[in-house]
Amino acid sequence: MSTANEYIESVLDGLRVRNPGELEFHEAVTGVLDSLAPVLEQHPVYRDAAILERVVEPERVVHFRVPWVDDEGKHHVNRGFRVQFNSALGPYKGGLRFHPTVSASIIKFLGFEQIFKNALTGQQIGGGKGGSDFDPHGKSDNEIMRFCQSFMTGLYPFIGSKRDIPAGDIGVGGREIGYMFGQYKRLVGSFESGVLTGKGLGWGGSLIRTEATGYGLVAFTREMLQTRGEDFEGQTVSVSGSGNVAIYSIEKLLSLGAKPVSFSDSSGWVYDSEGVDLDLLKEIKEVRRGRVSDYVKERPSAELHTDSSIWNVPVDVALPCATQHELNGEHARTLIKNGVKAVAEGANMPTDAEGVEVFEASDVLYGPGKAANAGGVAVSALEMQQNSARQSWSREDVADRLDKIMEDIHTQCVEASQKYVGRPDDYVTGSNAAGFVRVAEAMISQGAV
Ligand code: GLU
Repeated sequence: MSTANEYIESVLDGLRVRNPGELEFHEAVTGVLDSLAPVLEQHPVYRDAAILERVVEPERVVHFRVPWVDDEGKHHVNRGFRVQFNSALGPYKGGLRFHPTVSASIIKFLGFEQIFKNALTGQQIGGGKGGSDFDPHGKSDNEIMRFCQSFMTGLYPFIGSKRDIPAGDIGVGGREIGYMFGQYKRLVGSFESGVLTGKGLGWGGSLIRTEATGYGLVAFTREMLQTRGEDFEGQTVSVSGSGNVAIYSIEKLLSLGAKPVSFSDSSGWVYDSEGVDLDLLKEIKEVRRGRVSDYVKERPSAELHTDSSIWNVPVDVALPCATQHELNGEHARTLIKNGVKAVAEGANMPTDAEGVEVFEASDVLYGPGKAANAGGVAVSALEMQQNSARQSWSREDVADRLDKIMEDIHTQCVEASQKYVGRPDDYVTGSNAAGFVRVAEAMISQGAV
């Protein structure tokens, strides 16, 4: 019989042949499978039951046309996707991304990661992801509404509160969820609150859902720092991105006495030597829907950079919260040279494969996205619970539950790291192994489906 590593390599070879050119998907699967050799050695039954071969194959992939008409009467056609990856632990759950880079490969990488992220939350949710190559930038509110309605018209036959529950991701926030929910309700003729999460607070949404990914990320990083006897008080932190993950990470960092000094969007990145003015950032991004370049016009201590890298700023902690592949091997080496102590991912796969290797070979505490950013989907699961019970929990209640879930995810990572690699701080192996074992056990119980 081949070794566990040879077996993993053969599964990866098969994956590359069956999904040609889907580089992001290959990278995400390789990242998970490469850390599973010790797990397969300790659980030979997973290999006998072809768990790896099954888990890399989505249960269903839906690909649909999304036609829409702009304000000038011009017709456009975008692509819609939904990958229903794994339902061993519950109905498919995961966000929708509207961004021009969206492709089958991007949605499959996100859906694959989502399986294990969702498993780590301890909630009863399977993994899925979807979206469109539609670019929301510069579109009017009416164009966004028409696009969302057309997208939902293509998607609605495949989702439902017991089947598949989409939510937001890049380019999809409260406004888009509202338009999609309205169209779903109209198409099926009933108010099914549990079909989407990230809903408005007045009609089935949960308190803290908007803040959850950022708050959860900072809670997870706090737990990592605590293992080395440190906390956030007085630490300088670089944050990238300026969506809800970045904004609410900054909010939580400020409340813990840290000094966040950066954020970014496609117009550039901002360094604020005085620490981020959160009210101004929120006003620009959430109210005006503006660009980060507007921030420096109103804040003398801030400078806008359109060249060099946000990761060149010397900091104690770095939180990449923008998008995939924003931090490469060279950035990782620069952060380490400048003395970074912890890096935790608010975005999905922000660190490329070389960057992950660099962090793994160093002493830096490195928290991968599937563990560190699981707070968003965890509160989505809490939103589903509230919808089922027709209840709305208080802010404190949801915040406490989120905090406990993040602590628990951290503990699972540490325990699995200890069990499979003999040390507590390999969060890559820890998160992959802990998430995978929960899914694999459920798949074995449910037979060859
Ligand atoms: N898009 C988020 C993620 O990457 C949240 C998904 C959800 O709430 O279903 O986990």
